[in-house]
Amino acid sequence: MLWSIPIATIAGTVVRVHVTFLLFLVWVGATQWRIGGRETALEDVLFIVLLFACVLAHEFGHIFAARRYGIRTPEVTLWPIGGVASLERIPEKPSEELVVALAGPAVNVVLAALLILLFGASFQEAVATELENPRAPLIARLAAANLFLVVFNLIPAFPMDGGRVLRALLAMRLGRLEATRIAARIGQGAAFLFALAGLFLNPMLIIIGLFIYLAATAEAQHVAFQDGTQGLAVREAMISPVDALLPHETLEDAIDRLIRTAQKEFPVVDSLGRPAGLLTRDVIIRALRDAGPTATVSDLMTSAPTVPYWRPLEASLVLLNQSKAPALLIVDDQGRLVGLLTPENIGEMMLVRSMRPDFRFRRPQAARRLG
Ligand SMILES: [Zn+2]
Repeated sequence: MLWSIPIATIAGTVVRVHVTFLLFLVWVGATQWRIGGRETALEDVLFIVLLFACVLAHEFGHIFAARRYGIRTPEVTLWPIGGVASLERIPEKPSEELVVALAGPAVNVVLAALLILLFGASFQEAVATELENPRAPLIARLAAANLFLVVFNLIPAFPMDGGRVLRALLAMRLGRLEATRIAARIGQGAAFLFALAGLFLNPMLIIIGLFIYLAATAEAQHVAFQDGTQGLAVREAMISPVDALLPHETLEDAIDRLIRTAQKEFPVVDSLGRPAGLLTRDVIIRALRDAGPTATVSDLMTSAPTVPYWRPLEASLVLLNQSKAPALLIVDDQGRLVGLLTPENIGEMMLVRSMRPDFRFRRPQAARRLG
């Protein structure tokens, strides 16, 4: 991820800190220094670092719970507004989602209990004799912060943990699509309230509200997509026929093709019709400026994943997202190119499905003239 610095790897998950989080620390330190001097500044920065250690522990609650169900988490990123663990997927079984969602707040319950138990004897006293004992109030604040994390995360605003708990519970009765629709709607409503409260209380709430709104909307679309692609194969959604380029063709040939067709991505195939790479409009335009007129297609092309035409559409879209390639190259049983799959044409297919859920997509059988 851009602007985030890897600081450690824990059990196969890379822990990253976003630059804005470091800026946030600097800001807190500087502000406190001005108000209360060096001591206050150090203590506040230490408090925030410890608080985010608790947030990280919370994320690892989710991560380890997900691992029980065979879901890996490549990375977790700390932002000023909290931690984001990028689980490979969210478990589809409601009972599993429930466990994964609750595991995060459960960690904070344990941490709060430990802090109170271990340091609780001097809890009251510590607050009273704040000046003599600067360490104790920090622990007290940390215990309180953990309790706050539990309550805050369990607000049923999807996609926060509470929202996921709500979705899982609803899904047990209503099915995943309907449950997500309801949970996302509640999440969007809560996001609006957050932003509204932010206007009066703390501008940070506006950012959190925006974040929740976008995430709730994205999740609702994602589940609608899953529902819409169920049972479809790649060949039902792919662009076919497509115009392809040959590796030895020149930049001029590519430009000519760009102008004469509506395509924005051009597969590159060898003489047997097998995919060799991909050339996008952006790359062609850039080459126009940077590369010489003798540049060939093979100099400019980038790689893209190859997928057989019978592969389930949903799994292929996951691959498309993960590879960050602009398109997938679709091949027949002999490994020859038969089509392209891009986010755009999947979007068109979803549009058709949302208008006519019963629409039957044709299954194009074979390749066509290439080159
Ligand atoms: Zn969580």
